[in-house]
Amino acid sequence: MSTTNPAATPAPTAASPSPEAAPRKRRPPRRVQVTRVQTLSPLMRRITLQGAELEGFEVADPACYMKLIFPEPGQTEPDRPLPDGPRAKSMRTYTPLAVRADVHEVDVDFVLHGDGPASTWAAQAQPGQVLYLMGPGPGYKVALDAPAHFLIGDDSALPAFETILAALPATAQARVLIEVVDAAEERPLHSAAKVDAHWTARGSDNTQAGQALEAALRKAGAPAPGTRIYLACEAAAMRRIRKLLIEELGVERSLVVGRGYWKLGTVNHPDHDYGED
Ligand SMILES: Cc1cc2nc3c(=O)[nH]c(=O)nc-3n(C[C@H](O)[C@H](O)[C@H](O)COP(=O)(O)OP(=O)(O)OC[C@H]3O[C@@H](n4cnc5c(N)ncnc54)[C@H](O)[C@@H]3O)c2cc1C
Repeated sequence: MSTTNPAATPAPTAASPSPEAAPRKRRPPRRVQVTRVQTLSPLMRRITLQGAELEGFEVADPACYMKLIFPEPGQTEPDRPLPDGPRAKSMRTYTPLAVRADVHEVDVDFVLHGDGPASTWAAQAQPGQVLYLMGPGPGYKVALDAPAHFLIGDDSALPAFETILAALPATAQARVLIEVVDAAEERPLHSAAKVDAHWTARGSDNTQAGQALEAALRKAGAPAPGTRIYLACEAAAMRRIRKLLIEELGVERSLVVGRGYWKLGTVNHPDHDYGED
């Protein structure tokens, strides 16, 4: 759901049509090259993308997203998308983890989940390979005055969690509940805030996505009143956990931001699944 501040919305004029009427402007595609590939854990790779076309690529809030366009089978490099052309088939949503504007670099953490153009590309990525990048799209407005923060999600949301943790002040308290395939995926999380991280294992059967998160959440019980919650994982699991938080654990609806990051059995799940249906 999008919110608008009426006070900040100028009245439509002939020179400035209403925002509703304006076609959504696509950001220009930026050509980037792989400069570094790091293995963080058996199923997580950090890939650094670099290119002069990243000039002006700025990220305002944590947990924002960008679109990456991957080569089609048989291509060594994706076609440059045309401004009004069709959407690239192999375009997927990823979190800009760290942006180093001075050297035109962005880091992206990829879950190697198996089939899919993004995961398959990341598993073989090597320096010199080319992608196109578009974005960024909006992120999460962190309430810096909140008494506590709770991040709940799976491995696909770990990069988003890292950006949120990096944005928290030293006075903040954050609980993190993360579902990964197994203990080999666990790693330290960095933040100025006081962080209490709890890792749960799903196992290699993706049809079980979210079950371990749900069980751990039920065991932990209701978060302290006023806690801000960012919940991001498989789409159906996100809906179940959102319901559990609001209907069983009594969390105020407005304190929960839900995001379906991927959907079991679905190719290229959309980037705007908030689970509010
Ligand atoms: C806002 C946002 C930010 C995101 N940031 C990141 C990020 O930084 N890093 C990251 O790794 N992912 C991230 N994702 C998730 C990523 O967009 C999806 O996982 C995407 O589907 C991967 O594309 P693919 O080509 O590998 O698979 P697809 O072609 O889209 O899907 C193929 C099959 O793989 C399954 N699948 C897809 N993703 C997963 C998964 N994570 N685990 C298990 N099975 C899966 C699908 O259900 C489908 O059956 C983000 C998603 C959103 C909406």
